[in-house]
Amino acid sequence: MDREPVPSAIVTRLLEAAKELEQWAVEHRQANLTQHEQGVLQIFRRAMGPVLGAVLERALQLDHPAARRQRAACPGCGKHRRPHQWRTRQPVSVCGSTPFQRPYYWCPACEQGWAPADNVLGLDLHQILSAELQAWVAETGAELPFQQAAERLERLAGIGARGRNGAYPQRAGRHHAGRASTGGGRHGGADSGGGRASGHSA
Ligand SMILES: [Zn+2]
Repeated sequence: MDREPVPSAIVTRLLEAAKELEQWAVEHRQANLTQHEQGVLQIFRRAMGPVLGAVLERALQLDHPAARRQRAACPGCGKHRRPHQWRTRQPVSVCGSTPFQRPYYWCPACEQGWAPADNVLGLDLHQILSAELQAWVAETGAELPFQQAAERLERLAGIGARGRNGAYPQRAGRHHAGRASTGGGRHGGADSGGGRASGHSA
């Protein structure tokens, strides 16, 4: 019945990019190849991160209404909990800043939170850069400080690691020693906060 929660955010994002391309063409009738090349590249680059985020939500079926009620077992005590909140996570990948929203669970008995989606994605609790982007950074900037590596990537590959306020994330994208494969952490964790209003049905 409800197998197509229409239209997928993937389609919406790509349609937005298509409109931008149409507009670009109309507004740059005298542009040369280099200018079109840059214009089109920038439009696609801006779309890539959000599209990847939409793909993640789609693949994990987080855009499905049932996800709001989906219980998950606490890594500590095994008791099944309902989603506590929906939180935005925004790793930076080779597609650029990649925002997606996923349910965050909280076990009052164990006083720990976790996000099963992060586990599926292989995203550690404090990880900012995707594993692939970390590899790019390693190739690009070896031991450059994070900000310099980020600037270089932004220049070469158009991957902007800056947040909306224009600042770079504080934490370097290294793997942290702290265990995070359970997605566990303090209540209020290290997410970029916000997100959809809490369903707070737990
Ligand atoms: Zn528990």
